[in-house]
Amino acid sequence: MNLILMGLPGAGKGTQAERIVERYGLPHISTGDMFRAAIKEETELGKKAKTFLDAGELVPDEVTNGIVNERLKKDDCRNGFLLDGFPRTIAQAEALEDMLKQSDRQIDAVLYINVDESMLLERLTGRRVCSKCGATYHVIFNPPKVEGVCDKCGGELLQRDDDKEETVKARLEVNIKQQEPLLSFYRNKGSLHEIDGNRNIDDVFQSIEAILGDL
Ligand SMILES: [Zn+2]
Repeated sequence: MNLILMGLPGAGKGTQAERIVERYGLPHISTGDMFRAAIKEETELGKKAKTFLDAGELVPDEVTNGIVNERLKKDDCRNGFLLDGFPRTIAQAEALEDMLKQSDRQIDAVLYINVDESMLLERLTGRRVCSKCGATYHVIFNPPKVEGVCDKCGGELLQRDDDKEETVKARLEVNIKQQEPLLSFYRNKGSLHEIDGNRNIDDVFQSIEAILGDL
C-alpha cells in the first residue's frame, strides 16, 4: 500500500500516522526525518539540502524530489509506505508519480484528515507553558489542576506568542491555501479519501482502517 497522509496542523496526523505504521507495518516517511537522514548519511543530495537549510532557505524541488526518490527506492518501501509532508505542491505530486512509475508503482490512496477550522483553532491555541519550569499543558487535553497555575512548581502558565489565535490563524490560512490544489489534484485522480477528523482518535482510525481494507 502506497499511501499519502494529509491534514492541517492540529488535525492529528502524527497520531494517526503512528497507528497506521503499527497496524500495517509501513515505513513512515516524513520530510523532516528524510532530510535529517540524508544529511546524516552525507549523500550528495543530503549535502545539497544542508546548504539551503543552513542558509535558512527553502530546499528546491529538485533536491527534495531526489531525496524522496532515494528514500522510496530503499528495501523497506517495497511493500508500501506512508508519505507525510510530501508532496506539498502539484509539481512535487507530478514528480512523485514519475518516480513511482519507474518502478511500476502508484499511489493507492491519499488519506486526508479533515478537521473544521474552529476545532483546529481550539486545539492549536490551547497550549500553556509554565513560566518557571517550562512544563506544558493544554487547556482541554491536559489541563492543570488549578487554572493558570503549574501543577509541578506553582509557576504561572502563559500562552506563547506562537500559540495565540492571530498567529495560529495566519499559519492555518497559509496551509489551507497550499493544500487546496493538491486536494483537487488527488480528488480528480480518484485517490483522495476524506476522513472526518472532528472525532476522537479511535473513530478516526476506524475510518482509515475501513478505507484501507477496501483497497
Ligand atoms: Zn512549573
